[in-house]
Amino acid sequence: MAWALARRCDELGVDLIQNCEVTGFQLDRGRVTGVQTSRGRIAAGKVGLAAAGHSSVLAELAGFRLPIQSHPLQALVSELFEPVHPTVVMSNHVHVYVSQAHKGELVLGAGVDSYNGYGQRGAFHVIEEQMAAAVELFPMFARAHVLRTWGGIVDTTFDASPIISDTPVDELYVNCGWGTGGFKGTPASGLTFAHTIATGKAHPLNEPFALDRFETGQLIDEHGAAAVAH
Ligand SMILES: Cc1cc2nc3c(=O)[nH]c(=O)nc-3n(C[C@H](O)[C@H](O)[C@H](O)COP(=O)(O)OP(=O)(O)OC[C@H]3O[C@@H](n4cnc5c(N)ncnc54)[C@H](O)[C@@H]3O)c2cc1C
Repeated sequence: MAWALARRCDELGVDLIQNCEVTGFQLDRGRVTGVQTSRGRIAAGKVGLAAAGHSSVLAELAGFRLPIQSHPLQALVSELFEPVHPTVVMSNHVHVYVSQAHKGELVLGAGVDSYNGYGQRGAFHVIEEQMAAAVELFPMFARAHVLRTWGGIVDTTFDASPIISDTPVDELYVNCGWGTGGFKGTPASGLTFAHTIATGKAHPLNEPFALDRFETGQLIDEHGAAAVAH
């Protein structure tokens, strides 16, 4: 994956700088002119901010606030099994989702840990509760062992929809708020964000997803879309 991305960047003449933390923004009369990083200053006529769970931290450095809450989100897999579960089940009632990977692992998760946080791990009691919920739905899973758990920080908005938008800083654009669903949004997210940065105007698809909807009240409530309470 990393190799394919590096090759594509080569083809496009794009530099991908790894291990390079943005530590600040350079502004001139309300317009972004570059970023400060742990590896020096990078001048830029336009900047796209796509930092998921750290979006609001970076926006603060640029001088504005985002309506984002950062939460830990965890998932886990079991050891390998013969095919026993040929579908995806999501239950908002007992609060778990489960599917079986082609290799055989059961893949399980729940909603976000309810507190705000930036740790790359969540609380154990959340895993315990989601396993109890899974066993309530499928008693045979009680014999499964947890093989691996992981957690990340997700950027949630209060209408559960992303923000792909310009910002109060000229030529600084933001793509965030994907919460628990940013993988499946990748193609539309990339296309519309690239269009917005290149033209300075929203693509028709992301017009309703602007930052100002939190001022106008024209929210896009997608809380029901995930089927587990995110
Ligand atoms: C456990 C878990 C399960 C999930 N399951 C699903 C799923 O089943 N389906 C789905 O669609 N989505 C899922 N998601 C959500 C999905 O992973 C995210 O929405 C998606 O990865 C967000 O993509 P992104 O490009 O916006 O951010 P990321 O892929 O998180 O990239 C943001 C990048 O910004 C970098 N960054 C942060 N701060 C700085 C800084 N100061 N300077 C430089 N770089 C910085 C980070 O290092 C990171 O590389 C899951 C998330 C978690 C945590």
